[in-house]
Order: sequence, then structure tokens, then C-alpha cells
Amino acid sequence: MGTISVAQVDPRVASFLEKPRKMLINGNWVDAVSGKTFPSYDPSTGEVLATVAEGDRADIDLAVKAARQAFDSGPWRKMSASERGRLIWKLADLIEAHAEEFAYLESLDNGKPLTVARAADVPLAVDLFRYMAGWTTKLEGNTIPLSVPYTPGAKYFSYTLREPVGVVGQIIPWNFPLLMAAWKLGPALASGCTVVLKPAEQTPLSALKLGELIIEAGFPEGVVNIVPGYGETAGAALAAHNDVDKVAFTGSTEVGKLIVHAATGNLKRVSLELGGKSPNVVFKDADMDVAISGAASSIFFNHGQCCCAGSRLYVEKAVFDQVVEGVAEKAKKIRVGPGLDANTQMGPLVSVEQMDRVCRYLESGFSQGAKAIAGGHKTGEKGYFVEPTVLVDTNDQMKVVQEEIFGPVVAAMPFTDPEELVPRANDNVYGLAAGVWTRDISKAHRMAEQLQAGTVWINCYNIFDAALPFGGYKQSGWGREMGHDVLNNYTQTKAVCARI
Ligand code: NAP
Ligand code: MG
Repeated sequence: MGTISVAQVDPRVASFLEKPRKMLINGNWVDAVSGKTFPSYDPSTGEVLATVAEGDRADIDLAVKAARQAFDSGPWRKMSASERGRLIWKLADLIEAHAEEFAYLESLDNGKPLTVARAADVPLAVDLFRYMAGWTTKLEGNTIPLSVPYTPGAKYFSYTLREPVGVVGQIIPWNFPLLMAAWKLGPALASGCTVVLKPAEQTPLSALKLGELIIEAGFPEGVVNIVPGYGETAGAALAAHNDVDKVAFTGSTEVGKLIVHAATGNLKRVSLELGGKSPNVVFKDADMDVAISGAASSIFFNHGQCCCAGSRLYVEKAVFDQVVEGVAEKAKKIRVGPGLDANTQMGPLVSVEQMDRVCRYLESGFSQGAKAIAGGHKTGEKGYFVEPTVLVDTNDQMKVVQEEIFGPVVAAMPFTDPEELVPRANDNVYGLAAGVWTRDISKAHRMAEQLQAGTVWINCYNIFDAALPFGGYKQSGWGREMGHDVLNNYTQTKAVCARI
């Protein structure tokens, strides 16, 4: 696995990485109050990629103060909805103009192939901002006829207003750094909120690049503040802050529960997009080529570091061997390497911790009797690479079947009929997504109804769109990202009642 120097490839990215990156507070790039910095690593080599200001409680305090001022008395609230929409649209245009830089930063900081960042992460982020720009002018209330039985004969004129919730704290993970920033910022800005965003410690760079474009687009100072730092310090301070009106979090269910506790001080609103262990169900009447490719990409896309990864593969008994061997063949052919290498189809995992975590799960599976028919180990002399892995001889009780691995590991299990399958597929604390592969449309839609998941994909997987709501049942979260639904996270309803 050869190393490619970014300086040879894109000088704009090289110069971005050269300087220590600061944090964005009240429209200015500033150092941490403590003066501390932390490294961001290139997971394909384990080497330091860039140095970043390390935000903590004091920086969060300053950022929240700026966001509060921008919300309460800055020009942001006085802007028309249309002006707000134009700023968001302009930000989308700027991201598009800098698409190559973002693709490189994502690939270097997270490890994903440059080709994937170009094709998925960056254009989806652009599209999300454009979709949300359109919402600014459509956040309407209702007029409501009243009957009020105890004031006979009285007339009222009543209506609702949809108002922004205020200052929002947003905490995001490392698996789609730019896209997660977009999912969070887009609807918050469309709703008229102001934001303090904390990117993941592993991948702060694209959010900081985005901060430059937010300034260039002309957002008033303090509307978006970006404080990189660690979860236990900066993240926890943001979630607990008494002057934050709402916290939006994407990450592990474990930390999601900490966020809920931290929010109790001022009862701030909370939305959560958490983990998953999504069942992917292949029936014997499916188009086999499509189902096999789909099952492989449902787990191997983004190296399995997707909250909705199709990590429990249930295959109807008659076609179990065919499907599982087909997925294993695909797994063995995936070219694993550094993200910048044009031949790479799967990059490293994001960090040494994540690689070790995935390897511990593999060991646990093997010790409980699971067998790898593809992969099963880490690979490469340096960097955090794990082979695409297909596990068989698994059962519903194993940790590798019950718990989120967040790596390129699928556990395959046979089933006999839908009656037997549905309770097994639903027997999990998570409920984020599910996949169904069949040519029988009635069966497909019956399954869609019965599976406890926020998203059900039929004969496709990992299809995301700014217009399609995404989020979890059960312990996969509260609230939805994207679509109409996400605006509920960032607006509150005021009822106005006038006697006339
Ligand atoms: P995580 O700890 O949940 O991280 C998500 C975000 O929360 C990061 O910005 C993190 O900051 C922050 N954070 C951590 N502890 C916090 C706290 N006490 N208060 C406030 N914010 C806090 O996830 P991870 O450790 O990176 O990954 C662990 C596992 O989480 C993965 O293996 C996977 O199972 C799951 N995960 C799920 C998603 C998803 O999309 N649903 C995404 C990533 C990970 P720092 O990064 O700076 O610590
Ligand atoms: Mg990194």
C-alpha cells in the first residue's frame, strides 16, 4: 500500500493542512483559551495530518455567548426568510466550487476513498443545503377555528407561528464529517437558529474548511460557531450548557444517553441519531445478482462505518449458500488501500481505537463459534485497515449479531419464512434501518410495515436524499434528520389567539 503525498496532488489542501487550524467563534478564527491543540491523523498511515485548536468549556462558553447574541440581537433574526435562503444556497454553491478540496480533506482525515468522497459525501452535502434553502420561505403556521364552549358567542382569530428554537448545540461523528455537518447546519439555519458545532476529534478538518465558506457566504458573525475538541470536554460542556436551547447529536447510543442526562439541567430539547444493527433480508425470489451486490455494498460501503449498515444478513434457507458465497466473493475482491489511491475501493478504519474495537468483535465472534468465509483480520503494515469480512455459523445470541460493530463485518444467518424471520429481525435494541430483497411486491410492503426501523429499503440500500427523513426507532434515536421532519427539531410552535 503506497503512500501518496497530498502536496503532489492538491496544493490548496496542502496549504490548508500546513497551518494549525483555529476555531470559529463570533466570525473570527481564534486559538483555544487554554492555547492547547490536538492532532488529527491520517488513518492510512497513522501519521499526524494537521494540528487543531482544542476547544474546552471556556471556548464553548464563548461560542454559546456569540450564538446567543447573534440569535437575540444580531441581524440574523431581522433577515427575511428569502435572504436567509439565499445565504444557504450561496453556501451550497461555494461548497460545490471547493468540491475537490473537500473530497481530499474527507479522504485524508477519515480514510474513505477519494472517489467515494467525490461521488457521495460532497454532492450530498451540497444538495442538502440547497434543499434546506428552499425551506426558509415555507415554514408556515396554520389558522385554527375555535369553538371555546365557555365563551358562547365570542369570536376569535387564532393562528400558529413556527419559530426557531434558539441557540443549538450540534455534536457530530467522524463517519461522514462534512455530510453530518450539513445534515445538522442546514435545517438549523433554515429554521433561523444559531449554532455551536462540535465536530468529531478524529475528523475536524472539513467542518473547519466549511467555516471559511460560511464566512465567505456572508452569514452574520456568531450565527455559526465551530469548536473542535474532545467529546468528554467540549462536547459535554455544550450538551450541559444552560444557555443552549437544543442539542442535536449523532453518534453512539452510549453517548446519546449521556447527552440526555446532560440536557436535564435546563431541559433543553434533544434530538438523537444513534447506532444501528440493521437487518438485511434476502428472499429466495429476489433477483440474485442485485441482492448479492446490494447485500455486499450495504455493509461494505464506508467500510461498514455507517449507522445504518446492513450488518445482520438474513437469507432464505434455499438460497443461503448462493447469497453468502456471492457476498464473500465480492468481499475478497474489494481493493483495500489508502483513500487517495485511485485503485482503492475500501480505505482504513478511522482510528486505531476503531480498528481494535472491530478486531475485538471478530475475536468474540470466533470464540463463540463464528467462522469467517472472507476476511476476518486486520491487514497492511501500517494504518488501520481491516479486511471486508463475512461471518457464518452465527446465531442470534452472539455479540457480533446483537451489537453494533461499525466496521466491515457482516453476520449471515438463514431463515425459513417471514413468520419466523420478523421477530428475529426485530429482536434488537436498535431500529434504524432494514433492507428487503424480493420480486414479490406484496411481500416487500408487508415486510416494510412489520420491520421496526426508521427506514426500510426495498431492492436497494443506502439510498439517501435530502427530502427523505432518516432516523431511528427504539434506541436508534429521537427525531428525524432531513425531509420535512427535521424542521420539527429546530422550530417550536406558538399559538396566537385574539378575540375579535
Ligand atoms: P461517540 O463517542 O458517540 O462520538 C460522537 C460524537 O460525540 C463525537 O463528536 C464525540 O466527540 C462526541 N462525544 C463523545 N463523548 C461525549 C460526551 N460525553 N458528551 C458530549 N459529546 C460527546 O462515537 P465514537 O466513540 O466516535 O464511536 C464509537 C461507536 O459509536 C462506533 O463504534 C459506533 O458504534 C458508534 N457511532 C455511531 C455513529 C452514527 O452515525 N450513528 C457515528 C459514529 C460512531 P469526540 O469524537 O471528540 O470524542
Ligand atoms: Mg483524522
